[in-house]
Amino acid sequence: MTASTTTVRDSDIAPELLEQGRRAYQLDRAHVFHSWQAQGRFDPTTIVKTEGSYVWDGNGRRLIDLSSQLVNTNIGHQHPRVVEAVADQARDICTIAPQYVNAARSEAARLIAERTPGELNKIFFTNGGADAVEHAVRMARLHTGRRKVLAAFRSYHGGTQLAVNITGDPRRFANDYSAEGVVHFMPAYPYRSYFGSESPEQETERALRHLEDLILLEGPESFAAIIVESVPGTAGIYTPPPGYLAGVRELATRYGIVYIADEVMAGFGRTGAWFAVEHFGVVPDLVTFAKGVNSGYVPLGGVAISPEIAETFNDRAYPGGLTYSGHPLATAAAVATINAMADEAMVENARRLGEEVIGPRLERMRSEHPSVGDVRGLGCFWAIELVKDRATKEPLAPYGGSSAEMDRVVAAIRAGGVLPFANFNRIHVVPALNIADDVLRTALDVVDEALAVADGFARA
Ligand code: PLP
Repeated sequence: MTASTTTVRDSDIAPELLEQGRRAYQLDRAHVFHSWQAQGRFDPTTIVKTEGSYVWDGNGRRLIDLSSQLVNTNIGHQHPRVVEAVADQARDICTIAPQYVNAARSEAARLIAERTPGELNKIFFTNGGADAVEHAVRMARLHTGRRKVLAAFRSYHGGTQLAVNITGDPRRFANDYSAEGVVHFMPAYPYRSYFGSESPEQETERALRHLEDLILLEGPESFAAIIVESVPGTAGIYTPPPGYLAGVRELATRYGIVYIADEVMAGFGRTGAWFAVEHFGVVPDLVTFAKGVNSGYVPLGGVAISPEIAETFNDRAYPGGLTYSGHPLATAAAVATINAMADEAMVENARRLGEEVIGPRLERMRSEHPSVGDVRGLGCFWAIELVKDRATKEPLAPYGGSSAEMDRVVAAIRAGGVLPFANFNRIHVVPALNIADDVLRTALDVVDEALAVADGFARA
């Protein structure tokens, strides 16, 4: 199939909507200050309509959303049950302070607690992922009476001051004053092993030895928490090798360190399980979540808390809170999202799509395209890592940056009618968990074809 035949049809977007989009673009350029961007150089795409796995740009062009935006629309766009639930809640009680009991918040907490691993049955609600991470660390510090935090390089944990310092990617650099008590360690990353490993098993063993050495050399009693993305997301969807997370759990227990699983991106069905830790058979002490909990229809995040840590705050006030903790609109969206996911078997579908559609197709891309260094993932959570040279693994864009070559690949994907998620030298395949098989196959055809552009830069 060629890109032109897979290009999705432009649709009948009302002229008023397109006009509104043009005006929105002008106002955006005049007044909106965007995240992470050099403001003067940024040229954002306008979106005028969204539905299911599609978005329409400012020219009325329909694109398949293979990004789930920032990997949050796990149930796709404008799911009618969630839209209705938010509207109903708005008519009923739009907002209420966190100290008052509210039906939507209580039910959301119950539904989340039912799905978290082990006995993590108390839920603290936040406005998003970064503040969930901040609060998880605060809980760990107060619970242990210790201060320092262990976090992995090649990770992302949020944009607020502590969360961005916990983050192990270049977004930290400009925000790092060495003041947050964070110690970074090398992650288990078999494709580009920091330990010279030649097998996943060796990587697990060596990465855990490095982690334990670091704990011992830094002083085990100084660490309050270790935070690990169960499957690191923005940093490259590099699934941990067998036994790695079990080893992290074991080290945390041995040295009295609280294990925080950051499931902001990997949670709520993304990997084909409600929480990604389920694949690895481990139970953390705290789990942070956001994004997929309500598909991002209204901002929401939170921390699921173990009985031991919850107990710390039984007779002692928890020194933290937010005006919008458990906001009714956000938690009503979570209730409707979780129920829709369960009723429509979306988590099972994500697992099937990973096993039957995405995984095999990406493997084929690896075998056919010299520019594909590695493919990896599970469920609806996959990365294609592009290289100039398979032998040296020289990336198509440098770590922490972009390149003209990568820009050309991304442009080819968009020209084919697909909205991709790209980071450094990677294309992420992260569709909604309920994307139709034929739409997903069309999107993968477009990616496959765009890889011919990448092949042009690769030494065979
Ligand atoms: N943790 C992880 C693993 C994430 O992927 C993200 C966002 O991408 C965050 C935390 C921060 O979440 P938010 O952007 O909602 O603050």
